[in-house]
Amino acid sequence: MSVLTLKSYVADEWVDGGPNEIAIASAVTGETAARAGTGALDFAAMVRHAREVGGPALRAMTFHERAAMLKGLAKAIMDRKEALYALNPETGATRKDGWIDIEGGAGTLFSYASKGKRELPDDRVLIDGEPERISREGTFMGLHVFTPLQGFALHVNAFNFPVWGMLEKLGPTLLAGVPAIVKPATATAYLAEAAFRILIETGLLPKGAVQLVIGPTGDLFDRLTGQDVVSFTGSASTAQKLRAHPRVIAESARFIAEQDSLNASVLGPDAEPGSPEFDLFIKEVVREMTVKAGQKCTAIRRAFVPEKYLKEAEKALAESLARIKVGDPALEEARMGALVSHAQREDVRDKVRALAREADIVFGDLEKVEIIGERAQKGAFISPILLRCDDPWTAKAVHVVEAFGPVSTLMPYRDLEDAAALANRGEGSLVASLFTHDPKIAREFVLAAGAYHGRLAIIDRDSAKESTGHGSPLPVLVHGGPGRAGGGEEMGGARGVKHYMQRTALQGSPAILTGVANSWIKGAPVDAAPPHPFRLKFGALEIGKTIETKPREITLDDIEHFAHFTGDTFYAHMDEEAARANPFFPGRVAHGYLILSFAAGLFVDPAPGPVLANYGLDNLRFLAPVSPGDSIKVRLTAKSKKKRNDDYGEVRWDVEVANQKGETVATYELLTMNAV
Ligand code: NDP
Repeated sequence: MSVLTLKSYVADEWVDGGPNEIAIASAVTGETAARAGTGALDFAAMVRHAREVGGPALRAMTFHERAAMLKGLAKAIMDRKEALYALNPETGATRKDGWIDIEGGAGTLFSYASKGKRELPDDRVLIDGEPERISREGTFMGLHVFTPLQGFALHVNAFNFPVWGMLEKLGPTLLAGVPAIVKPATATAYLAEAAFRILIETGLLPKGAVQLVIGPTGDLFDRLTGQDVVSFTGSASTAQKLRAHPRVIAESARFIAEQDSLNASVLGPDAEPGSPEFDLFIKEVVREMTVKAGQKCTAIRRAFVPEKYLKEAEKALAESLARIKVGDPALEEARMGALVSHAQREDVRDKVRALAREADIVFGDLEKVEIIGERAQKGAFISPILLRCDDPWTAKAVHVVEAFGPVSTLMPYRDLEDAAALANRGEGSLVASLFTHDPKIAREFVLAAGAYHGRLAIIDRDSAKESTGHGSPLPVLVHGGPGRAGGGEEMGGARGVKHYMQRTALQGSPAILTGVANSWIKGAPVDAAPPHPFRLKFGALEIGKTIETKPREITLDDIEHFAHFTGDTFYAHMDEEAARANPFFPGRVAHGYLILSFAAGLFVDPAPGPVLANYGLDNLRFLAPVSPGDSIKVRLTAKSKKKRNDDYGEVRWDVEVANQKGETVATYELLTMNAV
């Protein structure tokens, strides 16, 4: 591979890093893979460009437009993935490891694109929850909304996943409408730069939406304000230093951290040797030790087993680890590649020596490993190292020291309570896993350990085949953990987007709040004039467009007919005496589904038109019984709209059914698909 010269991307220009060039070594050969200048960039210009150009451009787009952009970026990564796979082995990673990084990264963007399209509005304001009635007459209401922060997100990324680590942060940031300045870890910056280049070359990103810093961050932190977010992944010591930066503190800049994590995996007390869960546990511990040569923030560092199974577990792990071939990750037969650098290997060795003061190395040798592949003989390879600590309650280092390599410590526990307490001694982790086939054990463990772990993966014979495993953070689930893990939270679907937005409590009249949020609130004006709302195409239908129907009486015959027709002859509809004995009913009452059906009969405009399909109901409540002789009428109001594609969009209707006394008997939201 020729030596790459890396560039930063500042105010939409690729720029050299200036003097004081450093060499970045290949993890496999130890030879120079890339060079990067480390001279100061014009950080003032970067920040200005993000704030004044990138931010306004992104904020002018709707969530759906930003989602479409993310989809295009994800596609571009997939289309050009082989260029990234070509660089991947130099980081020490096998193709399988690279799949997590490269295609996992694209998959995360795809997921954000789809979440943005399906769960967020085609709008620039995001409503949070339901309106709150804060006045007696309902003329003064409360509503929470999210709008994008007006600063930038500074992404400081770790070396281990140069592509995924960048994209999992860019997805939610860009979807929120916030520009990003990305600072990849120097050790693998050549792969991050190559992926970043692909994003830029799509031409899909507005100017200023993303910028790239290769090398140090200079005075960037001194420029932070309360409108900015720092999203950090790396070591606890760097996180501590950066979150204590005077500017972060003075400006209350948001700081999200993923840092060290002594993740635990627990073999359930029910999972005796020979059970599927025992085998799955062994497989998972070995996989987590060796994928990415253990350089995964979610890797299993502590493996707990019932004390009576300690020997069998150790034997099974050692046998399985013995089959791992270490070597040139470009070779297919290599199951495990290299650590990212010789410095990282020294760090891992130091950490293992610290662990070995209170645990025995029962598999692997710190100094020796058989390496396959000729060009790899001088690379940063290390053997998988399994330690066993017989007294995890007296030991300290095993719960504190993160050896960021293929290293795990096996430990015994007495009972489930003990296992949870030991898992919690990591003082906060990104993930813990439990291998059990017993839901009672799972529940007890979750109650005892949940507070200490950002994610709990419970794996058994039923889920194993489809399980995404202990170590995979997923875009739809939160990634982050309390305490030692950094106290941050990333991804989690739409939750992750909100980290880059401000939640504001709005107060005002229903008409004002409807206008601000583009979502009709009861009490706001309606337009009940013809035509019927079902005659209007998606584009012509305005929020607040309403039909108020004439009343319809519900007779005992109607109720009996409905009961026999549908087969729903529940006593509350059929048996006067039994119904009277029920505290909710004055006597026989109409079926809830009858009310819904009659409501539809009242508001529907039957002729073919723009309404294509009934898509479902949300938030249905039956609030008062309807007795024979009562009459009902309906108000149906267009509440909000979400375009799906060029052909149709989803309309959400606010529906209220009232009786002859004006009491509300049912409320719900009806969803229809309407032609554009
Ligand atoms: P670091 O904390 O040193 O680096 C993480 C990121 O922070 C890199 O982009 C680094 O840039 C940047 N950085 C470092 N110092 C500063 C600073 N003063 N100002 C601004 N940015 C800074 O972690 P490493 O990646 O070197 O990994 C070291 C250890 O961290 C690992 O051995 C492991 O224990 C842990 N780690 C934990 C992870 C987790 O999520 N649990 C993930 C990755 C690592 P640069 O590369 O240019 O120095």
